[in-house]
Amino acid sequence: MNYEEIVCDLCGHNDLEIIWKAPHSEVQSVVCRSCGLAFLSPRLDESGTRSMYARYSQSYPLSYLLNPANNYWQAALDRSAFISSHVESGRLLEVGCSYGHFLNCMKERGFEVTGIEPSAESIGLAATHWGVENIHHGVFEDVNLPSEGFELITFFHVLEHVRSPMTLLKRAHELLVDGGILYLEVPNADHLPPTVMEYLYMVTCQHLFTFGTDTMKSLLAASGFEILVCKNHPILPVYASNMRVVARKIETRATPTQHFEVSREQMTRYHKGIDELGLSFRKQVDQWLKAGKKIAIYGGGLHTQAVLEWTQIGDAVALIVDDDADKWGCYLAGVPIVSFAQLLESDVDAVLVSSLGAEQVMYEKLDTLADRGVERCRIYGS
Ligand SMILES: [Zn+2]
Repeated sequence: MNYEEIVCDLCGHNDLEIIWKAPHSEVQSVVCRSCGLAFLSPRLDESGTRSMYARYSQSYPLSYLLNPANNYWQAALDRSAFISSHVESGRLLEVGCSYGHFLNCMKERGFEVTGIEPSAESIGLAATHWGVENIHHGVFEDVNLPSEGFELITFFHVLEHVRSPMTLLKRAHELLVDGGILYLEVPNADHLPPTVMEYLYMVTCQHLFTFGTDTMKSLLAASGFEILVCKNHPILPVYASNMRVVARKIETRATPTQHFEVSREQMTRYHKGIDELGLSFRKQVDQWLKAGKKIAIYGGGLHTQAVLEWTQIGDAVALIVDDDADKWGCYLAGVPIVSFAQLLESDVDAVLVSSLGAEQVMYEKLDTLADRGVERCRIYGS
């Protein structure tokens, strides 16, 4: 893996305070002493980031994506109802539109919708199932779009992933009409709980930037936007810390203001929580390893990828168990994914439950094995 150091994307300075060092890579979480922006430096370079995303790609069954009760639909309904009170109609561009749930909701409200999405599979689904066809395949920087061509541009959980949020916002400024509206959501550093979802992103180098209300306001003012709304708005169980921002394009740009103390306090508290969480289950796993136990991990998704990355215990794990039949026969970090029935027939001595949302249910499903003397450990509800 190759890493790169960067200067502050917001103010351009290079006076950085190190808050945290990743356990198994060169990645560091830093805060700019000049303006308070929190980001990773060093971070994975561009090709390293691309291969990381390829490794962590996740697909959902069609039945889930089409189900009106799923997270995508619920978020899209909430967001479309909210933004319609600020912009009634016009041309909308959604950057990173995924399966097109939000574009579909906005189309039904009368907007002329355009999307940009790097996943061809997602684009195909949007066209086939809800007739959202105007989606460009690619990334924002590479797609050719008309200047001042949109009344509304949206970014949902995009800004924290990009290599330069400032460049992205300046581009959005060019594409909006005078007085056009920018609507974005990002994880909110003011409300960052030390949950594995966030810890996953940090460890795997997915979230390159972290914004609190202060630094977000400063960033938007510096890129030519006036804030209309900036509040925490939990949208799904996994987005409890969700900052919702609406801003209007203006012609003036402000110099970044200083928020170092607040940012440093937030990021220090956050990383301390994550480290404590990681150490608590690592302790149990280490005991198992010392006793020569054969270990399985129950849960074969993104969460487990993060656990493997954090603990580096892949070599010691015999099986990964998942209830999703689509994953059986696949491998995660070289470990085979098998069914629950296969776990019952196996000779594993210990099971680590790895899930943010379904931990309790999965833990209880292991009762039979626990009766046979198989040890089990969960990460959150210990
Ligand atoms: Zn700075």
